[in-house]
Amino acid sequence: MLSHSEARRKVVEVVSGLLREAAARTERLDLRAAHGRVLAGEVRADRDYPPFDRATRDGFAVRAADCASIPATLQIIGEIRAGDTFARAVASGQCAQVMTGAAVPAGADAVVMIEHTRPSQAQAVVEKRVERGQNIVARASEAKAGQALLAPGTRLGYAEMAIAAQVGQSQVEVTQRPRVAVLSTGDEVVELGERPGPFQIRNSNNVSLAAQVELAGGEAVPLGNAPDRIEELRARIQRGLEEDVLVLSGGVSMGKYDFVETVLHELGAECVFDAVAIRPGRPAVFGLCRGKPVFGLPGNPVSTMVTFELLVAPALDLLSGAAARPLPLLKARLAKAVRQKTALTHFLPAQITWAGGEAAVEELPWQGSGDIVALAAANCFLVVHASRLEMTAGEWADVLPRRGVL
Ligand code: AMP
Ligand code: MG
Repeated sequence: MLSHSEARRKVVEVVSGLLREAAARTERLDLRAAHGRVLAGEVRADRDYPPFDRATRDGFAVRAADCASIPATLQIIGEIRAGDTFARAVASGQCAQVMTGAAVPAGADAVVMIEHTRPSQAQAVVEKRVERGQNIVARASEAKAGQALLAPGTRLGYAEMAIAAQVGQSQVEVTQRPRVAVLSTGDEVVELGERPGPFQIRNSNNVSLAAQVELAGGEAVPLGNAPDRIEELRARIQRGLEEDVLVLSGGVSMGKYDFVETVLHELGAECVFDAVAIRPGRPAVFGLCRGKPVFGLPGNPVSTMVTFELLVAPALDLLSGAAARPLPLLKARLAKAVRQKTALTHFLPAQITWAGGEAAVEELPWQGSGDIVALAAANCFLVVHASRLEMTAGEWADVLPRRGVL
C-alpha cells in the first residue's frame, strides 16, 4: 500500500503527464477579481523601482560629507513632500527637508531622521553621525525597468497583487480555474432542503468538498448525490467526467453496495491506486477515466476532508497552471503522549497553540472519522506516522494545519 507521500507523488506525476498534452485555458480579469488565481503571463516592471531615490524617513536630505563632524549646521533650502518635484540641488553646507516617500534631491546622499536634528526656521543642526545612503532606497534597487517580477504559474496572493498594481496592470491574464465535479454517493444521503428519515443523514460532504475545492483554487460543480445503484451511479459519473476533475465521496470501501470502483472500471478507468496507508482515508481511489483525473474519496466526512487535502489539492494546483504545493507540515511538541495501534499514518484532530513561544500540539478526543464536531474544534491534524505509532509527551511531532483555519 502506498504511503500518503507516495500517493501524493503519484497524483502529481499523473496529472503533470496530462498537462503536457493540454495547457490550462486562460482569461483576462480585473486585478481585484484575480485574488488567488494563477498568472498565465508575466508581470514586468514598467519602470525602475523605486522610480527615484526615495527617502524612507521624515527628516533632512544632506550630504554625508558635510556631517563628518557633529553637530553640523546646515542651511535649509526647501521642503519636499511625497509626490513633489524639486528642481534644486543640495550644495555643500545645505540640506532640504524631506518627508517619507519623497524624492531625495540631487546633491544629497543621505537622509537624517528629524529626531536626530535640531531644526529652526532656516537651519538644521545635525546631531548624530551620518552614513552615506542612510534612509534612502536607491532608484532601481528593488527592480529595474523591464525586469520580470512575477512569472507565469505564480498564484496571486496579496503581495503579488500589490506588484501587479504597482506596475499598472489593472487587468491580468490568468488561467481558468479547473472545474471540479463534486458527487456524493450513498442511499442514506439526503440533500439539505429535505427532512432526513430516522436513519438517513444530510449531505455534508458535498458542502465541505465544494469549500475545499474553492480553497484549493478550483471551481466546484455540484452534482448532488447518487444512490448506491450501478446505473444511476454510472450516469452521474459520466456527467462528472464532462468537467476537468471528478471528486466522488463514499462507496469505495468493502461494503456490498460500494460500487464506485466497479463503475469506474466499467467505464474504462485506469486505476493508479485504490488504497493509501492512512487513517482516516485508507480506501481512497485515484485514477484516470476518459482522460480525466478521478478521485474516489471515502465517505466518512473526516476521511473525505483529509484525503482531499492530501491527494486532491495538489492536482488542482497543477490544473490551475501552478506548481503542486508541498504538504505544509509544521513541527510542534506533543502536549500528551499518543499511541495508535494500526500500522498506518494517522491524521488526528488536534489543537496547536503557541503559548510560551513554542508550538505545542494536543490531540482532541474524537469518535473517529465521522466526527466533524471534534474536527471543527481542531485547528490542525496531528500526524502519527506508521513508523512510530507511540510517541511520548514533549516529543516533536508533525502537524498538518487545517487550511482556512490556520
Ligand atoms: P461510505 O464511504 O460510503 O462507506 O460511507 C462511510 C460513512 O460516511 C457512512 O457512515 C456514511 O453515511 C457517511 N457518508 C457518506 N456520504 C456522506 C455524505 N455525503 N455526507 C455525510 N456523510 C456521508
Ligand atoms: Mg456509502
